[in-house]
Amino acid sequence: MSTQAALASPVTRFAPSPNGLLHLGHAYAAVVAHDLARARGGRFLLRIEDIDGTRSRAELVPEILADLAWLGLQWDGPVVFQSARLANYAAAGERLKQLGLLYPCQCTRAEVAAAARAHGPDGLVYPGTCRGRDVSPEGAAWRLDMAKAVALAGPLEWVDELAGSQVADPAPFGDVVLLRKEAPASYHLAATLDDAADGVTLVTRGQDLFAASHVHRLLQALLGLPVPVWHHHPLVCEADGQGHWHKLAKRRGSAALADLRRAGEDGQALADALRMGQIPTGLSLGPGVGTVP
Ligand code: GLU
Repeated sequence: MSTQAALASPVTRFAPSPNGLLHLGHAYAAVVAHDLARARGGRFLLRIEDIDGTRSRAELVPEILADLAWLGLQWDGPVVFQSARLANYAAAGERLKQLGLLYPCQCTRAEVAAAARAHGPDGLVYPGTCRGRDVSPEGAAWRLDMAKAVALAGPLEWVDELAGSQVADPAPFGDVVLLRKEAPASYHLAATLDDAADGVTLVTRGQDLFAASHVHRLLQALLGLPVPVWHHHPLVCEADGQGHWHKLAKRRGSAALADLRRAGEDGQALADALRMGQIPTGLSLGPGVGTVP
């Protein structure tokens, strides 16, 4: 804890997306969220972020629950599924539309890539092609008019327990997508609404999502949601062989917790090792890197 006093009795959550099996990076994130709640007499929630229709796999949910039990992490209350909350996301989307802050966009990924001129914290920045145009809302993605939203919300601040007070600076993201066809709400909108709905007071997640919190703080202001404190923890990183550290990713072959579990390894011992910062050889508890899950 550096600059801020610890939040008493915090409500934290672990919010995996069932797009792949959990790995050590997830185990670390879950241990951090769990322990911060338990150490301060708070509550630890589990939310399954399962609304990405193209990547989400329902059959992985039982594996995730079994992994957490294997690690010795018990969550409080029922498991929350984002797929049960689509009406909340749609209602918030309507509210933002009524405020005149969303506009429909029919650009394909390829069109955005061809037209984009700037890189933001989450990849290419949308150049605003459809903003102010008469675009059909049929099957469109809905983007936040960032300049308008920032002007409406005025100056905002938020607090990270480790990094201290932050002046919200969501503008570098550009006009982010908040609603789309294949995933009814974007990560930014769904996570922000859920944290508010579940009374999460301490949002713990990896440093790779630090910048995203600027956008979430803006959404909280626009939608009149309570403002939590954040705790962005270091990421478990692996070297790529060329001297660069990357956030651990299943696609680079990191071991799945489910495989370790089935091989009879001791999950609670693993959780204890992570608690003490003991990271397996070849990995490191590193600084944030610029990728988004
Ligand atoms: N679903 C995100 C992930 O899998 C979690 C993001 C968050 O904790 O806000 O990393």
